Amino acid sequence: MEEVLRELPQKAKEKHNENKKFFVKLRKKPPKNLDYIMQELHEEEFERTDCLTCANCCQTTGPLFTNADVERISKSFRMKPQRFIETYLRVDEENDFVLQETPCTFLGADNYCSIYDVRPKACREFPHTDRKKFQQISNLTLKNVAICPAAYNIVEEMKKLIK
Ligand code: SF4
Ligand code: SF4
Repeated sequence: MEEVLRELPQKAKEKHNENKKFFVKLRKKPPKNLDYIMQELHEEEFERTDCLTCANCCQTTGPLFTNADVERISKSFRMKPQRFIETYLRVDEENDFVLQETPCTFLGADNYCSIYDVRPKACREFPHTDRKKFQQISNLTLKNVAICPAAYNIVEEMKKLIK
């Protein structure tokens, strides 16, 4: 996995223009069964991918924390939400709560998430490749293929399947 992660940003860079064109086309005319295709591709890829050998999302980029996330996680720490925010979060340029630092504070040395059961919604859903109306998050996916090897592979498979 180390080598895969080392090479991923360059591989994603090389595919960027091709991926961009593919997503422009996809947004214009998404196949009727796109949700189904994405579900299948996502499941197949994550059967092969062990996130515990990777954790690159937790290492390099942090999730957004919704108010519901803050409530749930701070409760699990028996902390007041405001205290949790002051300790771990900051407000970014888009006015969202994000982590003060990366790698994520809650990531263990063994790549386990110490708040797994109550982790933010964005972490549960990353890399969003089984999302309905997947064509709507193509800009985000263009970025995620440089971070997530599974997302990279899924987009490569999409290009073979959807002409
Ligand atoms: S909260 Fe957990 S799953 Fe989310 S980025 Fe941190 S370690 Fe990863
Ligand atoms: S979701 Fe992607 S980047 Fe995150 S651990 Fe799994 S394979 Fe790695």
